[in-house]
Amino acid sequence: MTEKIYYQDSHLFTFDAVVLDCREEKTGYSVVLDRTAFFPEGGGQLADTGALGTARVLDVHEREGEIRHCTDAPLRIGERVKGSVDAEQRLRRMQNHSGEHILSGLVHGTYGYENVGFHMGAECMIIDFSGELSWEQLTELETRANELIRADLPLHIWFPEEKELKTLEYRSKLELTENVRIVEIPGVDRCACCAPHVSRTGEVGVLKILDSQRHRGGERVSVICGLDALEDYRARQESVTEISRALSAKRGEVARAVQRLLAEQQTMKEKSDALSLALIRYMAEAEGETGGNILVFSEVLGEIAQRELVNLLMEKAGGFAAVFCGSDREGWRYIIGSRRLDLRRGARTINGLIEGRGGGTSRMIQGSARAGRAAIEDALKTLSV
Ligand SMILES: [Zn+2]
Repeated sequence: MTEKIYYQDSHLFTFDAVVLDCREEKTGYSVVLDRTAFFPEGGGQLADTGALGTARVLDVHEREGEIRHCTDAPLRIGERVKGSVDAEQRLRRMQNHSGEHILSGLVHGTYGYENVGFHMGAECMIIDFSGELSWEQLTELETRANELIRADLPLHIWFPEEKELKTLEYRSKLELTENVRIVEIPGVDRCACCAPHVSRTGEVGVLKILDSQRHRGGERVSVICGLDALEDYRARQESVTEISRALSAKRGEVARAVQRLLAEQQTMKEKSDALSLALIRYMAEAEGETGGNILVFSEVLGEIAQRELVNLLMEKAGGFAAVFCGSDREGWRYIIGSRRLDLRRGARTINGLIEGRGGGTSRMIQGSARAGRAAIEDALKTLSV
């Protein structure tokens, strides 16, 4: 049995060990040591990575009590190697995981809800609680969690004897009776967990709840702790600073500045719609009545104005009225209408001539065309369908 250094000292990241076994596997090499500080995946916490001698440790599993290190190079059996765990990654995971215990303990103690799902993601932790929690309740819990972090309480972690375990109250997802490891934060939480943790709550640094949503009759909460929280803060600050510069607003007032911008945008849109309607009336008046087709091209009209212009021009065309919006570079969106022709039947011919696709009713068709303006004019000006 490999000696589990990560249980004796969760902050020991470099160690010496003897290679007991090394075999080639599909994904690399599988190495067993006499002792290891590499934590295999468990309790929602991912496996450590790092180095063994000159080989990289890519993953670690515990299989039938045996801890297997997955490496990218072979190690000689009997060889003494230096192991080093990627310390910052492990510290960040311990900050998050111990923070999760603090919050879950508070939720359990205050509301009696269980932690029924736990995932440590790349962005943050996701914790599912068995009951609903309002944002006000979560904010209060967050404040209390940070008070407990500041109180710098020592964690007590041990493997109780069977007799002690029977009388011990603790949170647990599984009905375990053997090798139960208890992680206790005095006065806050007692939980069965196999993962390494910080030594004192102060190490968690800070706990921040990012988001929450109703989930299967309970609450799904996104939480971040420690160095990850600092990094998250930096990223958010950078983004707010950029918005504040772009809008010339103070950092604390960007939300109001964005709302103002959206309101201005809405006013501009209403003005632009009114201008479009005035414009298409002029455009329609500029066209004389004809027994043939009317073709109009515009780079600026939106779809509503485009349709309205087709309606106006249809009255003046004995053939069809076609309005193309867009450009040769981006392609054209067309709407074609006619009072007399059956456009549904003519759509195939029209699309064939303008490299287009689309269809509609006998009175009106719409679609897109890849042909350029000159080619479209040549093809449709005198077309009769
Ligand atoms: Zn845990």
